[in-house]
Amino acid sequence: MNRGLLLVVSGPSGTGKGTVCRALLEKRPDIHLSVSATTRKPRPGEIDGVSYYFMEEEAFRSMINSDGFIEWACFCQNYYGTPKEKVEEQLAAGRDVILEIEVQGAMQVKSEFPEAVFIFVVPPSLEELEKRLSGRGTEKPEVIHERLKTALWEYSNMEKYNYILLNDEVDKAVERFISIIEAEKQRVERNDDWVNKVKERI
Ligand code: 5GP
Repeated sequence: MNRGLLLVVSGPSGTGKGTVCRALLEKRPDIHLSVSATTRKPRPGEIDGVSYYFMEEEAFRSMINSDGFIEWACFCQNYYGTPKEKVEEQLAAGRDVILEIEVQGAMQVKSEFPEAVFIFVVPPSLEELEKRLSGRGTEKPEVIHERLKTALWEYSNMEKYNYILLNDEVDKAVERFISIIEAEKQRVERNDDWVNKVKERI
């Protein structure tokens, strides 16, 4: 059985990447979305074990020390990390896995899993991003300013990714996302069982 595809999705906060990923999963429940661990406090409506595994810094550090993360990063004064075990298990079972993570973590994944597919979600414009960041209404102005600064830094890393996924409308973005997944699965290097079968006959 072929291993699942590891899909790494990044994009400044406010690009709607979370919304796009959730809408994708509705259409493609066969895909597994990895649940990250974080030391950030839960926002209203977030559920432990579903949105994130919410942790104290000490527990997070001990997980780093026991090599429990595929990658981890400090982002806006909080720690975030991808727990290793579940992702490995799903990929080995042939299931495609999405990691919705920021740029520093994505680059760690790139060095460990060069075969992963890196997708950068963008809003229609920078002005729209600013509007979306302020529109969430759950953060203080200084937090929004900090996030916009971080967002611009994240944009500057865009060229390290394989695809730019425009999120102008969620449905359209999901269609584009599915096209990327399907095209990636047809790549010659992901179908070497076919190539090898032909070679055996020559
Ligand atoms: P938020 O606090 O808004 O939920 O997430 C802030 C940023 O952390 C987002 O860009 C999100 O994609 C990223 N993030 C979430 N989980 C992880 C993770 O496991 N690892 C890394 N490196 N970033 C993550």
